Amino acid sequence: MSLDPVVVVGAGAAGLLAAYFAAGGARPVILLERTAEGGRKILISGGGRCNLLPSRFDAAQYTTDSSPHILRNVLRSWPDHAQRRFFERELGIELQLEPETGKLFPASNRAAQVRDTLLHTVRERGVACRFGERVRALAPPAGEAAPWQVRLEDGAVLAAHAVVLATGGLSVPQTGSDGDGLRFAARLGHTVRPTYPALTPLTLRPPRFATLAGVSLEVVVRAPGAGEARGGFLFTHRGYSGPAVLDIAHTAVRARLAGGAQPLLVQWGAIEAPEWERLLSAGAATVAGALKRRLPDRLAEVLLQEAGIAADQRVATLPRDVRRRLLDVLLRFPLPHTGDEGYRKAEVTGGGVALEEVDARSLASRVRPRLFLCGELLDAFGPIGGYNFAWAWATGRLAGLAARES
Ligand SMILES: Cc1cc2nc3c(=O)[nH]c(=O)nc-3n(C[C@H](O)[C@H](O)[C@H](O)COP(=O)(O)OP(=O)(O)OC[C@H]3O[C@@H](n4cnc5c(N)ncnc54)[C@H](O)[C@@H]3O)c2cc1C
Repeated sequence: MSLDPVVVVGAGAAGLLAAYFAAGGARPVILLERTAEGGRKILISGGGRCNLLPSRFDAAQYTTDSSPHILRNVLRSWPDHAQRRFFERELGIELQLEPETGKLFPASNRAAQVRDTLLHTVRERGVACRFGERVRALAPPAGEAAPWQVRLEDGAVLAAHAVVLATGGLSVPQTGSDGDGLRFAARLGHTVRPTYPALTPLTLRPPRFATLAGVSLEVVVRAPGAGEARGGFLFTHRGYSGPAVLDIAHTAVRARLAGGAQPLLVQWGAIEAPEWERLLSAGAATVAGALKRRLPDRLAEVLLQEAGIAADQRVATLPRDVRRRLLDVLLRFPLPHTGDEGYRKAEVTGGGVALEEVDARSLASRVRPRLFLCGELLDAFGPIGGYNFAWAWATGRLAGLAARES
């Protein structure tokens, strides 16, 4: 008599790793994926280059409303160097470090290499990959030895010994993740912490800075009381994007969802006060000339308008209070924002299944037997830089290994 399989639902980053590690045991492994080929988010990641990992990561860089202790233990189960070794040695994907950002990319610079290698390898390990199969419902075992019932879109029901839920969150729904797994988890009795778009561009209505669209520079963005982010900033037609904005965006999104507003203060060019004071204190330069030495021309002009200072005024003639006003604009510019691009453009989902309800060593549900949860579905996300894949790989591996032994 054949044994009931381990069924992995979702062939994204987490599900592919879960299938990889669930394979090779006594039970067959079936990977169910609703899209035609899976791994769509891997394909669009890192601008098509796939920032596969950060060179270093630790739990302090992640956001969760759940237990930081469980988050830490899960990440420690497969630390940065071990993850890197897996991709390089086991999967044969050569990785290259981008020294200025600490990000690791495949040396081929092709996200498709990562997705295709994962798909190929899970098949090679005997996993039955079934694409175009959307899971509609999960019925838990009726008794201790009874199987899970996995109901598919066409009404067919699959008996499963164990289920690994790797259905992602709500970000970029056209990649296949529109919240099915969160609904399944809630229906099965799990606590799902309120979800919100994270790593998403911010918007401004009316678009006061639309003329700056395309201008980019380094910044520090501070969200008083909620953190800060450092890195690239990009003006868009509808608002702002770039790593620094994406990394801090969840503070604004959450404040708005709670009916409030999170102030964001920008330090343009990430230039410190003494440097500006030096540039603005003496000499024959105009203020516009001084600003344009460190900032993009178009932005310098707009910031002078914001400060109410004529571009051709000499820095040496600036009254003290006007210089102070200009320094405030350069170092603590209150960035107006009225909304965000939501899940349509969010790189990840904040919130999700409460970490307290999974075992940190196996990601086994504490609510239902032989159910394992992994990836973006769980209440944790990291900043730009490969941290979200690191989470998906680590949780997928743990869930797969445990499902195999279950
Ligand atoms: C534009 C973009 C760029 C990104 N770039 C990076 C990057 O460079 N580095 C980084 O670390 N992170 C990046 N991320 C984040 C990263 O892609 C995600 O954190 C990660 O892919 C989440 O993996 P997952 O497997 O948990 O979920 P997903 O990748 O969303 O996979 C879930 C899978 O489950 C399937 N599914 C859902 N419901 C069902 C169902 N009912 N039945 C069957 N199948 C189902 C979906 O079709 C999907 O294939 C990026 C995200 C986006 C959107």
